[in-house]
Amino acid sequence: MRPVSPLAVPPDTLFGVHNLPYGVFTTAADARPRLGVAYGEHVLDAGAAARAAGAPAGLTALLAAGSLNPLLAAGRPAWTRARAALTAWLTADEHRAAVEPCLVPRTDVTLHLPFEVADYVDFYASEHHAANVGRIFRPGAAPLPPNWKHLPIGYHGRAGTVVVSGTPVVRPCGQRKAPADPAPDYGPSRRLDIEAELGFVVGAPSPQGSRVALADADDHVFGVCLVNDWSARDIQSWEYVPLGPFLGKSFATSVSPWVVPLDALAAARTAPPARDTAPLPYLDDRAARPPYGLDITFDVRLNGHRVARPPFAAMYWTYAQMLAHLTVNGASLRPGDLFASGTVSGPDRGSRGALIELTWNGEQPLELPDGTRRGFLEDGDEVTITATAPGPAGTRVGLGEVTGRVLPAR
Ligand code: CA
Repeated sequence: MRPVSPLAVPPDTLFGVHNLPYGVFTTAADARPRLGVAYGEHVLDAGAAARAAGAPAGLTALLAAGSLNPLLAAGRPAWTRARAALTAWLTADEHRAAVEPCLVPRTDVTLHLPFEVADYVDFYASEHHAANVGRIFRPGAAPLPPNWKHLPIGYHGRAGTVVVSGTPVVRPCGQRKAPADPAPDYGPSRRLDIEAELGFVVGAPSPQGSRVALADADDHVFGVCLVNDWSARDIQSWEYVPLGPFLGKSFATSVSPWVVPLDALAAARTAPPARDTAPLPYLDDRAARPPYGLDITFDVRLNGHRVARPPFAAMYWTYAQMLAHLTVNGASLRPGDLFASGTVSGPDRGSRGALIELTWNGEQPLELPDGTRRGFLEDGDEVTITATAPGPAGTRVGLGEVTGRVLPAR
């Protein structure tokens, strides 16, 4: 009997030819980081496949790189060419013999940060999350700050501490001060939290002094990854006025190892929620194009136990609006820029993407199956975020996972 070809994947796979996310991998036999494409239970060595299939030199050079950045920089026409070529290599009989040896079992690879992160920006685009945090931190006041429905609020984070899924996270130390304390003290965070977010990976750059219009967003955004924006709430709440998050966020941000191209998410486009405040023209997507968000369902697990199913479709601001706002002052884009959505939270308790909301700032702890309770994370806890989206013809697109375990403070 012939062995089953790695090119034969089950129709319900999350990583079929409809997905084709990019990552960077090594193997025990070959320590060179190289571009891979997840396909079924395998990883296609993209550069090896390009050489084996006799691809043009330009495309081969992009796919044989040690990171995704050269392909990111090449822009949408190159992204389209690469996707078409990968699709042909994985599906056409004429390529079978050449391409099959380029598939490596996923269990044999080590995955690395899939791109060199240039600048990192984090937004705050869920109305449910922003309103919940407002109710927790500013009881009695309006849940949303007055600017919230006029602009997608964001801050610049720390690109150098973005790490790939699986990297342990050391509990940060810093200044802690509860509202009732007379003065801060220093020590390990007691309120370590997660934020389940979607990250957008920028490909094509834009020059300083220019703006990216809503209609041009897809020329610049290559794809998406999962993000866990680890957050030390006690450090954050003491430091964030008036300049925003700083050390409460910058110690670590985890991303999934696979970048799913926007092209794989065409069937996931969905209308954003109704807006009750007209935005300024540069953010008004009703005129520029039919506005769309993305119907991506998240799954958040704490020590293997599901604690939330946040719906990305509920996000108020779209990624096109975030990008238009990020560049409206003339700030440039670089290949490898990462901007994250902010915590994905829906209207119900079970759809909230951060512990601060799930436990209402620790007042309503989660009960775990092992009988323990959690207001915030304890040392040794492991958080895993996964997500899927609708694909073409009834398929599902997998975004992989971002996972991390909390190590004790040092
Ligand atoms: Ca965040």
